[in-house]
Amino acid sequence: MFENLSERLSGVFDKLTKQGALSDDDVKTALREVRVALLEADVSLPVARDFIKAVQEKATGQAVTKSITPGQQVVKIVHDELQHVLTGDADPGALKIDNPPAPILMVGLQGSGKTTTTAKLAKRLKEREGKRVLMASLDTNRPAAMEQLAILGGQIGVDTLPIVPGEDPVQIARRAKTQAGLGGYDVYMLDTAGRLHIDQELIAQAAAVRDVANPRETLLVVDGLTGQDAVNVAQEFDDKIGVTGVVLTRMDGDGRGGAALSMRAITGKPIRFVGLGEKMDAIETFEPERIAGRILGMGDIVALVEKAQETIEAEQAERMMKRFQKGRFNMNDLKMQLEQMMKMGGMEGMMGMMPGMNKMGKQMAEAGMDDSILKRQIALINSMTKKERANPDLLAASRKKRIAKGAGLEVSELNRLVKQHKQMAGMMKKMGKGGMLKQAMKGMF
Ligand code: GDP
Repeated sequence: MFENLSERLSGVFDKLTKQGALSDDDVKTALREVRVALLEADVSLPVARDFIKAVQEKATGQAVTKSITPGQQVVKIVHDELQHVLTGDADPGALKIDNPPAPILMVGLQGSGKTTTTAKLAKRLKEREGKRVLMASLDTNRPAAMEQLAILGGQIGVDTLPIVPGEDPVQIARRAKTQAGLGGYDVYMLDTAGRLHIDQELIAQAAAVRDVANPRETLLVVDGLTGQDAVNVAQEFDDKIGVTGVVLTRMDGDGRGGAALSMRAITGKPIRFVGLGEKMDAIETFEPERIAGRILGMGDIVALVEKAQETIEAEQAERMMKRFQKGRFNMNDLKMQLEQMMKMGGMEGMMGMMPGMNKMGKQMAEAGMDDSILKRQIALINSMTKKERANPDLLAASRKKRIAKGAGLEVSELNRLVKQHKQMAGMMKKMGKGGMLKQAMKGMF
């Protein structure tokens, strides 16, 4: 057993002393480990290389959060990037099956789990969407495969096209189409023949069937355990037949899911479903989050990411408080507060939490200052230059005109913002001296 990536990384970084930001060397050391882990997880070399490059660019120079190690921080960046690369369709499980009867073509190598997946999807369509589904096996070379589909159909209560000996796959596809129309089916699924390897005949047959059926979806079933081979198979099927999505089977096994990453990066085809066992319910829509966690070999990655986020916010609050206590409160601070207010459900609720501002919150609400004002104020601050934000005293009439124009608002509105800023800055200073600020800030973050 290999130790997982998170352990590896923390091993590397425990030795390093903490620094303010991730250095080039930190990131390089960490990424060497990430690279090995990716390759072990069956990610192809070029994909791993590109991936590492992307992470390197994102990671170098990032501020290190106090309560997590640089290694954890790199893991977080890796995780986010994995998810980014893996994310395909918003709803990978939504099959295009309008205009009944909608044909779905199932393709893939023998043993990939194609027949099983056909039945799993039929069951899903029947149970989740109340669809009437007809399944047909086109594997004329292997009578056992045709029977297998019929048996599965019986188990899940989905009809299969009766087997007529001597027909070729194209004839069966035509009969399935007619039968689906006559029988009032919503969907008909064509389970094409598989071979152990891709050959001319297999492709020619699948193409002929495709031309007859004109499928709404062509789903390629590949064995997730075969890693890089799965990607080559997918590429070839897509080139020759054109697929609309991939189903990765045996993701319940030992494989670490690297095939998924390569698949997405190389073929550009979305992974729609993953097979998680032999049972008819063992299929799920593809979730990048899960696969990312799996490739990293750490289940608690999400918790870690969230913790990191919280810490960043807490540190931000601490820094802000220190500034306020010193009487510093510029437009950047105001902007941060306004954004925080938006998050916390508006002005009145927010002001209510701050001692001494209760009344002000009420007055603002009564004067019609709602959340749209927050948005406009943020727009005004965004329209200021860096210098103006840091030093609001610079805001002379000509600057004000430019700022208001940039935000598409009136100067009068900017004047109100400036006044509000002054009031708040004064108040912060007073509160900072009395220690009330600390108490107030506790409620804010
Ligand atoms: P086909 O030749 O591509 O049609 O493959 P089959 O559907 O006959 O599947 C081959 C074997 O793989 C069967 O024993 C299935 O039960 C098994 N199988 C299919 N999908 C999965 C999966 O997601 N996980 C596991 N563990 N086994 C699977």
